[in-house]
Amino acid sequence: MAFTVTTARDTLHVSLAAGALTLSFGGLENYSFDGEGRPVGMWRGGITYRRALDNRVLCKWLDAEQGGRQRRFLETDERRALLDATLLRAANAQTLLAQMQTTTEISIARGWLDEVLGWSWPRLEAEAARFAAVYKPVPILPPDQYLSLVIQATEGCSYNDCSFCTFYRDRPFRIKTLDALAAHIEGVQHFAGRGINLRRSIFLADANAVIIAQDKLLPMLEMINARLPVGPGALNGIYAFISAPDALHKQPADFAALKARNLRRLYVGLESGHDPLRRFLRKPGEAADVAAAVASIKEGGLAVGLIVMVGIGGAQFRDAHLRDTVALIERLPLDAGDLVYLSPFVSDGSTRYDMDMQAAAIAPLDGEAMCFEEQRCKLALQAVAKRTGLRVSHYDLREFVY
Ligand code: SF4
Repeated sequence: MAFTVTTARDTLHVSLAAGALTLSFGGLENYSFDGEGRPVGMWRGGITYRRALDNRVLCKWLDAEQGGRQRRFLETDERRALLDATLLRAANAQTLLAQMQTTTEISIARGWLDEVLGWSWPRLEAEAARFAAVYKPVPILPPDQYLSLVIQATEGCSYNDCSFCTFYRDRPFRIKTLDALAAHIEGVQHFAGRGINLRRSIFLADANAVIIAQDKLLPMLEMINARLPVGPGALNGIYAFISAPDALHKQPADFAALKARNLRRLYVGLESGHDPLRRFLRKPGEAADVAAAVASIKEGGLAVGLIVMVGIGGAQFRDAHLRDTVALIERLPLDAGDLVYLSPFVSDGSTRYDMDMQAAAIAPLDGEAMCFEEQRCKLALQAVAKRTGLRVSHYDLREFVY
């Protein structure tokens, strides 16, 4: 549902689709709001802004001088200015619509804008505390799951020892009881409200929730299916991460049972198919374990998403990393439902990986070399992608906010 309002001073395009209200002023500024009226995305002055559910805002822009896409989180005063301006534009839109003859679309848009105008900076800022009461921070999702509804059946990572990874260092691993999961789902539903209409799927978090023993996991999935709108036209299936050694604790029949409860795809942090590099990264399991895990998941009827860390291990590992990673992917039973993400490795310089690199006197790759490695990898995977229909995509971890 969409319509355009044109006046002597302004052209306003209003879209009411995919669970969002989007206002576009003259094609120069866009503002999107969820079903509760909370701002979710803005685009103005050539900068894209994504508002996280805890009211942080990530901005992204193309910078010719620095080269490529840049990004950063806004400071508090910048967030406040942006969100105040966003609400002001919503008020401008409401004024324009008030001058129009009432139609069904205009009536829905006016009601939605009333919800938007019920928000203010203090109320939006208070969302951080509401979010923290329901969720542990959500540091990562695969790109095709950025619009998923996260359900944290576990907290943390059961391994939590890869040298480059800091995602879950703030929390011990724990599996929720069925009662705790029920309370979490209720909290998520209350927090999301009509914002749930913006969500496309369910992501079962945290790092490797599918590690949960089958006799506990099946009732959890059944509860999720019973309490949330999972199905065509609603939340389109359940997705999760799993590590290769954890996947080997399940059989293809176990994965088939998860599929029968709407699990669709498992994402495996492959990182590299080169075993010496995997050991250097303290990554659990070997390339052969990844191959066995993927075969088992596929035999159970689930799709897989593999994440490759481009450029990790620097100059010392670059050729062997590429060679063994491509060779591994080529021998996996992948098809058109599967994904490979090429994720250029970034570090803040403070991880154990950085110390290990220094100790081994390995130079990390610079931005240009990283781009080159990604292109090399993409090119090397072209034949297998063509043969199987497998999709190979770029994945920038820094682009994510939940
Ligand atoms: S298994 Fe995944 S989440 Fe856990 S420490 Fe390693 S990279 Fe991080």
